[in-house]
Amino acid sequence: MNTEYQVVILGAGLGGIGLGAVLRSQGIDDFLIVEKEDGPGGTWRDNIYPGAACDTESHLYCFSFDLHKEVSRLYARQPELLRYAERLVERQGLAPHIAYGREIVSARWDADALRWTIALADGQSVRARIFVAAWGQLNRPQIPEIAGRETFAGQQFHSARWPRDLDLADKRVASVGNAASAIQYIPAIAPEAGHLTVFQRSPNWIVPRGDRPYTPEELARFIEHPTAFDENKAELFAWRETTFLRMREGSEEAREVEQQARDHLVAQVGDPALRARLLPDFPLGCKRVLRSDDYYPALCRDNVSLVTEAIDRIVPEGIVTSDGVLHEMDVIIWGTGFETQSFQGPVDVHGSAGASLRDEWQDGARAYKGMAVAGFPNFFLIYGPNTNLGHNSVLSMFEAQFAYIAQAAAVVLEQDVALEVGRDSMERYDAALQAEMDGSAWAGNCTSWYKNAAGRVVNNWSGPVQDYQALTRRFDREAYRELTEAR
Ligand code: NAP
Repeated sequence: MNTEYQVVILGAGLGGIGLGAVLRSQGIDDFLIVEKEDGPGGTWRDNIYPGAACDTESHLYCFSFDLHKEVSRLYARQPELLRYAERLVERQGLAPHIAYGREIVSARWDADALRWTIALADGQSVRARIFVAAWGQLNRPQIPEIAGRETFAGQQFHSARWPRDLDLADKRVASVGNAASAIQYIPAIAPEAGHLTVFQRSPNWIVPRGDRPYTPEELARFIEHPTAFDENKAELFAWRETTFLRMREGSEEAREVEQQARDHLVAQVGDPALRARLLPDFPLGCKRVLRSDDYYPALCRDNVSLVTEAIDRIVPEGIVTSDGVLHEMDVIIWGTGFETQSFQGPVDVHGSAGASLRDEWQDGARAYKGMAVAGFPNFFLIYGPNTNLGHNSVLSMFEAQFAYIAQAAAVVLEQDVALEVGRDSMERYDAALQAEMDGSAWAGNCTSWYKNAAGRVVNNWSGPVQDYQALTRRFDREAYRELTEAR
């Protein structure tokens, strides 16, 4: 590792390595990707729970510049996606550009030198013209502060910290949480556990998934036929774009999918009393719409029960609910999601005149086009505020960001300038985006990781992907001011 780079990228998840690949393809080679784990893959390295998979179709969940042609099924599972990330590093020649096992703790803009000073946990530091944070939205596990949690005598862990040698045979197991992660591991562990109790605070809308392996003939066609994969990817993308309308509250499309989810529930759960407890009372799309064919059948097993009373406290023997019942447990799995609001997590970022990103974002993270923040020159984000999706592949958003940031980097490096987005541009952009959130399903009446406590949607993009692509296609230098000398 050198001490001076043109670009430093935080994170070797698909965002960080994808940007590295695009920078290389544009002739920008002097960059370092700093990753705290010992390999690439981000979320696909962290989430090894049984059943972990992506619920975006595999052909959409890969980059157009490095197609996942050999992927074996419609919805790829975690091991295959981790291999895709690892192979991306090999195929794109990124290995010499990545420092694994190094954690960035702070980044500070040096206004005299027009450089970022980036401090690592081991005490070293590196300097860079440009700093890109690709820190992900879903990687800091969140475990609720429930009284007595630390007194539990059995084993407890978060779904994204699954123990590799876990043995659940004959154990009494609790899953707190029943959303995207939990509905994948619950069917996978139910046959093994002695008894599994699912603690549900709110039910979710669940639609059929229809996963299947590709046939040998399909695989051969995708791998060998020059356009077959691209055509399928393009068709899936176009279809997914049409589903954006489901994300508008009260739309006909939302009503149709809600009916599909109700039919799915009726088809899979025979007991009307259980069904009633599984029916959401909030509009479709307000929380992420889940896809599963095996979650409801798992709940109907004899060794699985659903508890909908609120959790009151944890005691050494297990979980006590608000009705005073003690549910004795050997294992508690916290499928309770991630800290999704602060974005920068524990990393301290200080821009012009020492401004802190934490202070800048105290009322909710915001960024120009999800990528640039006023007061933070030559600083860009991948998967930043308001760039998550509810209807299409988030990797299509990443690719738009890679191209925009690569153009910005070319200007900075070729013209020897620092660029800082204007506050007016950022605020106008943010106001327009938030206005578009009115009437979106995410702004509806439910709690979700898309919104902060004040009800502001901070994670999701407000429109179809094609709108974001159009908005970000050209690096709009006029929205930025130039810093050429020490201020
Ligand atoms: P999540 O969507 O935030 O769900 C957290 C779950 O924990 C919810 O059921 C929530 O209930 C419950 N919970 C939280 N605090 C609680 C408390 N104090 N008491 C009781 N229950 C509590 O987290 P996630 O399931 O890990 O998923 C996060 C995101 O990761 C997904 O939305 C998705 O974007 C991504 N993901 C995707 C996939 C995939 O592609 N298939 C798989 C896994 C994750 P409430 O609903 O009542 O808040």
